[in-house]
Amino acid sequence: MDKLIGFLVQRIRYFLIVYVFPSSKKNIKVECPCCGWKGTNFMPFGVVLRKNAQCPKCLSVERHRLYYLYLSKILPKEKITTMLHVSPEKCFHSLFSKHKNIKYTSIDIDKKKAMMTEDITDLSFPKKHV
Ligand SMILES: [Zn+2]
Repeated sequence: MDKLIGFLVQRIRYFLIVYVFPSSKKNIKVECPCCGWKGTNFMPFGVVLRKNAQCPKCLSVERHRLYYLYLSKILPKEKITTMLHVSPEKCFHSLFSKHKNIKYTSIDIDKKKAMMTEDITDLSFPKKHV
């Protein structure tokens, strides 16, 4: 029940931040590299709440934004790369799936969370699959 209440509070806060009280350009202090959202601060997040942690638009947290910035720098510009993303984070989907040099496939045991349903302990891909 606490998780449901926490989730609903976050969703209401997101609605207020994004639609009711959008930030003016004057008071923008943070920007999410994953989705481009800009505002005065990120939402608190975590079992022990961390201030300024979660993007209200794409729900990325600090580590996702750091990975996003790092991966944006190191992704190949010239070479075609094949990527299998296990249990994909939603905020990375656009980065990988829109990158023209990446053949991107995401898998998860929950069919709603990825492009393909796979159990990592029993993959259906043939050996040396590329
Ligand atoms: Zn975001």
